[in-house]
Parts: sequence; structure tokens; C-alpha cells
Amino acid sequence: MITPIIDLHCHSTISDGLFSPTELVKYAHSKGVQVLALTDHDDIDGLPQAREQASALGMVFINGVEISVTWQKRTLHIVGLNFDHKNYTLADSLTKIREGRDARAIKIAHGLGMAGIMGALEGARSYCKDGSVGRIHFAQYLAEKGHAKDVKSVFKKFLTPGKPGYVEHVWADLTEAVSWIKGAGGVAVIAHPGRYDMGAKLYPRLMNDFKLAGGEAIEVVSGSQDPSQTEYFAKIANEFGFFASCGSDFHGPGISFRQMGQKQIIPPNCKPVWEKWPDIKKLTQSNHKDIY
Ligand code: AMP
Ligand code: MN
Ligand code: MN
Ligand code: MN
Repeated sequence: MITPIIDLHCHSTISDGLFSPTELVKYAHSKGVQVLALTDHDDIDGLPQAREQASALGMVFINGVEISVTWQKRTLHIVGLNFDHKNYTLADSLTKIREGRDARAIKIAHGLGMAGIMGALEGARSYCKDGSVGRIHFAQYLAEKGHAKDVKSVFKKFLTPGKPGYVEHVWADLTEAVSWIKGAGGVAVIAHPGRYDMGAKLYPRLMNDFKLAGGEAIEVVSGSQDPSQTEYFAKIANEFGFFASCGSDFHGPGISFRQMGQKQIIPPNCKPVWEKWPDIKKLTQSNHKDIY
């Protein structure tokens, strides 16, 4: 049996990805992905379109979202998987987060204006096809205008703490975000835990708070964290009784270095999050060791 490629984290034009939900599913299919979750930042509007395309291609599709959260004054991302996308509380809460995003975009443009960069809001909007303006859209515009050589360098120079286009922002509360996901019947997952750089004391505190809130999984394998971190997060997952999830965090060719369809391995001592989902479990029952 050919082991399926599972990708439970990626983005479309509904947030800061380059492909529309339909294009993204087609692209994932062309890269060999068989089980896909679309996880746009604070937005679930792409799910029906993506599901339709996935079904036309015979792929398994999982509803997803990546919620921006503030915990201990830090921004974290919580992925929600396999929820009812018609749940009112979830949809309404995400709308409120996006309103905050829009207000933040005005402040980012103001900061950039103070640094002599004019017209950044309109410029960022021109890169934002369907959803709310995020930092990537500013980065694309600033790179186009030659303020730095590429998106990554724009982040470094303008959009990270201490830089002119960085704005402190209060996102959703961790416990609330988990409760919206669970209330809609889904599983809450800490996205790319290796990105937060919190140290040996804070990580267990986060895991503890997340568990108390009802969180059930962490991304042990992510295109957004170094593979050398897998072992540490596999250990944490087992210590706290979390399921392990995995995903590319793909945004589009050129916009991020993460690729789709690359094989990454969930350590055999972890319980994959799809053990909770009979459809996928069936696909993977031969051996989950070499699935990603
Ligand atoms: P936002 O939610 O608008 O603050 O933007 C966060 C998004 O920006 C992340 O999901 C990534 O897609 C992207 N991002 C963050 N840091 C970087 C970086 N250093 N280089 C490229 N993209 C980044
Ligand atoms: Mn993003
Ligand atoms: Mn993220
Ligand atoms: Mn992401």
C-alpha cells in the first residue's frame, strides 16, 4: 500500500497564501497530498470551495483554521481541525479577530509612513485578494518597491518587533480560541511550537494552560520549524498526552520556502491526530511511521 501524504496546515488567498482555495487543492493533489486541511489565518471562508475541489479529485479534506492568539504577551497560533464550519460562535469570533487585523493594518501603514514609506496600506491591499490584510501583504508590497530584496528581508527590516512597521496587537485569548474550536466539534492544535523560542520553563507552562483549556494536539512536525526540534516536541506531546499533528505551513511558491508533499515523519512513539478520525485512520492503518 502506498502510504498517504497528510498535510494539515496550509494557506490560500483567503489569508496570506498565493493560491485560491481551489488552486491550492489542485496544487496539493499534484504534489501527491491525499489528506489536506486548509488552515487560513482567522478565516474559514475558503473551506466550502476547497472541499468541493478535494472531493472532485478524490482527496480527503479536513476543515481547518489557524487562529491568532495572545498568551503571556506573545503571539501564538492555534490550529483548529475537523470542526463544523457552520458553527456560529466560531465564525463570529473569527470575524471579530479580522476586524482587529484591519485596525492593525492601519497602524502598520502609519508606522511605515513615519519611516518615509507612503501608500503602504493601499499597496498591501493590492496583494490581498480575498481576506484581511496581514504582514505578508505589506512585505510583498515593500519588496516590490525595493525596500528590501525579498519578503523575508522585509520582515527582518520592517515588520518584526522594534522595527517601524511592527505593531503590538492583542489577538484572541488562548482559552477562548480553544473553546470555539471545541464548541464547533473540532480539535485544537498548537501550530509550529518550535517557532516560539520560549525556553524550557515557558514551554511546559504553555502546554499546561493549553491542556487545561481543552487543547488536544501539537504540531510535532511542521514546515515552519526545524526538523531537529521534532524529538523535543514528540517528548512534550507524550508527556502531556497530546496527539501529534503535521503540516507544511505552505503559503505558495516563492512566498515561503516550505514545500508541499515533502515527506516528514511523525515519530513512531506519537499518536497521530488522525487516530481520532476513522476515515483517515483507515487510509493509514498499514503503518503510520512513514507518513507525514
Ligand atoms: P500576521 O498574522 O499578519 O502577523 O502575519 C504572520 C505571517 O507572516 C505568518 O503566518 C507567516 O506567513 C508570515 N511570516 C512571519 N514571519 C515571517 C518571516 N520572517 N518571513 C516570511 N514570512 C513571515
Ligand atoms: Mn501566514
Ligand atoms: Mn502560523
Ligand atoms: Mn500557518
